[in-house]
Amino acid sequence: MGELDALGEAVAGGLLARAVEPAAGEAGDDGHTHESNCLNCGRPLAGPYCSACGQKAHVHRSLKAFMGDFVAGIMNFEGKFWRTLPMLAWRPGELTRRYIAGERARFISPIALYLFTVFAMFAVLNFNGTFTSDSGADIKTGAEAIQSKIAAEQKAIARLEVERRGSGNDAEDLARLDRKIANKKAEVDAATKLLGGKPIITADPGDDAPDWIKPFIENAKDNPEAVSLKVQEAASKYSWLLIPLSVPFLWLLFPFSRRFRLYDHTVFVTYSLSFMMMLVIAAGLGVAFGAPGLAPILFFVPPFHMYRQLKGAYQLGRTSALIRTFALVTFAFAAAGMFAAATVAISAI
Ligand SMILES: [Zn+2]
Repeated sequence: MGELDALGEAVAGGLLARAVEPAAGEAGDDGHTHESNCLNCGRPLAGPYCSACGQKAHVHRSLKAFMGDFVAGIMNFEGKFWRTLPMLAWRPGELTRRYIAGERARFISPIALYLFTVFAMFAVLNFNGTFTSDSGADIKTGAEAIQSKIAAEQKAIARLEVERRGSGNDAEDLARLDRKIANKKAEVDAATKLLGGKPIITADPGDDAPDWIKPFIENAKDNPEAVSLKVQEAASKYSWLLIPLSVPFLWLLFPFSRRFRLYDHTVFVTYSLSFMMMLVIAAGLGVAFGAPGLAPILFFVPPFHMYRQLKGAYQLGRTSALIRTFALVTFAFAAAGMFAAATVAISAI
């Protein structure tokens, strides 16, 4: 009973407080609220904003204010967005450095940008998927062009592999053919990604595939649409995993550095991943609107961007930035591979 009494007293106290502070939050005759304490946290006010919680001292209680809050929210995001985006593209290092140094209100936080980009990316990829499977003749041609390119590349790979088997033991020949095959495979991978990440499974699982994945691959061959959807779902749901997977690699670029902290690396990684996803969005939109020629940006821009961001964010010299870019590209493949494996594993469960 004691607790209930206490509760009753607290409620009464609250009512009393409102009686002492008359019409708090309620409009007076002139249509304005007249408050001397913050309406959000109750601290005494001195100036147009609460010094404790940051809320505006003066609020309105009207539909106009409701819409105003909405518009202000969008404008605030928009303003920051258009300030952050060009910097992320052209001066990613400066953006990262300034954000770390404390210019937090000026730019969109890395994690907000990341979540926004994940959302936009899957929206674009799904949009592509919809248009590739049924209507939209113009859009379909782009996807079909890529499909037939994939088929052609796969034939070429098969030819090269036959050639490789027949080429004897000439090390130079073998190396040249391996290089060609690897290039073709990379092109097939990239093209597949452009088709909304729909896996095009032509190969058998093979003996070296882990046991748990074999039934999944069989299933994927029978029912590619459903499996691709499951993988996509897992990828978007667990997209945040890419950040913790990548941060240790960044740390490895500056082991035991006292100048750079985990926070710095996390900001770096999150902005970087956001940019890479924006590239995927650009390439995806290119495919959707009949310009599959945008695809190569997925190969050439990332290393360049990483170099610029490393150089600017960590204030490195050219050589030092270049060496770390090579390492980072390698790490990025590792992190992406780990993420892909994790996503497939999660969706296979
Ligand atoms: Zn307050």
